[in-house]
Amino acid sequence: MWIDTHCHLDASEFDADRDAVREAARQAGVTHCVIPAVHAAHWPQVAQLAEQHGDAYALGIHPLFVPQAQEADLLALDLALTEHRADPRLVAVGEIGLDFFVPELCTPHMRDRQWWFYTAQLKLAQKHGLPVILHVRRSADLLLKGLRQCRVTSGIAHAFNGSTQQAQAFVDMGFALGFGGTLTYERSLQLRRLACELPLSALVLETDAPDIPPQWLYQTAEQRAQGAKQGRNSPAELPRIAQVLAELRGVLLTDLAAASSANACRVLPQLAALYHHAP
Ligand SMILES: [Zn+2]
Repeated sequence: MWIDTHCHLDASEFDADRDAVREAARQAGVTHCVIPAVHAAHWPQVAQLAEQHGDAYALGIHPLFVPQAQEADLLALDLALTEHRADPRLVAVGEIGLDFFVPELCTPHMRDRQWWFYTAQLKLAQKHGLPVILHVRRSADLLLKGLRQCRVTSGIAHAFNGSTQQAQAFVDMGFALGFGGTLTYERSLQLRRLACELPLSALVLETDAPDIPPQWLYQTAEQRAQGAKQGRNSPAELPRIAQVLAELRGVLLTDLAAASSANACRVLPQLAALYHHAP
């Protein structure tokens, strides 16, 4: 049984065949997906999708949506977290974080604005006793600074791609690191080394579908120029991505499934009840 700890099932890329995508993942052994929200307008949908498919969800404002987010969205998030408090499928505040890769988000104003939304949402996670799902893109040190200022119970640093020291700092704060499709590229030398060096207890698995297609779905710029569409990632790819990690680490796939699922349930404690009571 696999848990995809980061799957944007609400994304428009799945509008035409969302139910079939989820069913294919189930057939592949992915019993649970965690669906993180990206902005306020999607909060009802991620909750509804989780309910429909027996999955889990998180509510939050993603750094890429900070430019259009309003101050009022933070108040709305506080309210939504209160309203959904009794919902066993609400497992975290997310997806929140900082993105210093996208140029528009790197202006001094946008850096400040991202920091404001990130730290405000950390405070809400703390207030509601929820873990966080973090978007980390050239921002690990500042994310850690925010966590030191406002401690939360635990969480996931998703699509982690930082240094060993940064990874250790997240682990020391009760976080797991999310690994996915990037591992499937032979040129991901540093990330592959990190994924092998870290204790197994520090890892969770994710697809970030529809994004981060694994190597077998990736279309090169040349192929795209010839009309091929970039491959769409889906939660059904998780076991095959995990197979790559299992081979890199020299562990059995079944052991990796058990360990990564246990880790996910440890850092997102609400997930444990869903996982262990799955049909
Ligand atoms: Zn995401």
